[in-house]
Amino acid sequence: MKFGSYVFEPQKAEGFDFHLLRVKTEVGKRIMPEADMHSNVAIFADNVATHEHPEWISQSPVGPARIGNNNFNIYWNTVCATQPEHRAEQLDYIEMVDNHSLGVWLNSFYFAELGNCSCPRCEELWKKSGLSWLDWRRKEVTDYVAQIRERVKNELILCVQPDPVNSIERYGVDFDELAKYADAFNVVMFSKNYATPWYWETLSRGFKKILKKPMYISLYVFGPGDLPTDVPTPAELLTVSVRCARAGIDGILYLTGDSEQIRNYQKAIINQVRLREQLRSYGVQPVQEVLDLISKWEKDLQ
Ligand SMILES: [Zn+2]
Repeated sequence: MKFGSYVFEPQKAEGFDFHLLRVKTEVGKRIMPEADMHSNVAIFADNVATHEHPEWISQSPVGPARIGNNNFNIYWNTVCATQPEHRAEQLDYIEMVDNHSLGVWLNSFYFAELGNCSCPRCEELWKKSGLSWLDWRRKEVTDYVAQIRERVKNELILCVQPDPVNSIERYGVDFDELAKYADAFNVVMFSKNYATPWYWETLSRGFKKILKKPMYISLYVFGPGDLPTDVPTPAELLTVSVRCARAGIDGILYLTGDSEQIRNYQKAIINQVRLREQLRSYGVQPVQEVLDLISKWEKDLQ
């Protein structure tokens, strides 16, 4: 297994195999990529683009893919996934990011949600295609990822929503088709608590069964603006890491704002001495790899 830090600030915490930097987030804010970090780019979720071009927002029969439309679980505004200027600009941007870092991990490379997008351009493209609605959406997403693959020379990882069953209907995301272009998938499992690890382990098992490329998961540790009372406890994070490792995943990323928050997390996990011992009995190699990582932190970081 590999372990990564997943951060908003260009800072590398010790004790991880790699570092993923959020160079363009869903709110549209961009920072420069770092040569020795991987880069995380959200494509269509982009508050800056939708502020400058309100007419680009993805449409649906139950309203636009905008913050506040509670028909959808989105906390940002999302550009229509066929918007040609945005697509072209993002292709160039992703190529630049790839050239200046170790590779690109993509978020939001798909349609916003069920029923999106019903703008006049999408309606016309769909009708011209002669395909069913779902097949047309799937083709749009897959073809765009194929174009991105041509621009990305380093590693290309696709970050997907934690829904192993309805991804085609909701997002136009076909895991089998996209596996042809992706070096790996990252299932984003952000939650502000992991009180019941059973569900996350089950999701990991489901994805591991269907994804035809290596699979990471991302866990939520401490986000920008969070209070210590807002976030998962160290015991929850340690337990869920072990339980998902047992499902056969290939790596885990831990999201924090900066490297100091990662460091605080590492210290808190190291202090879970009794739980670390209990979890030794939870299974074979992958479980031991998580626990060995923490033993290594204990040795190297204190
Ligand atoms: Zn559209």
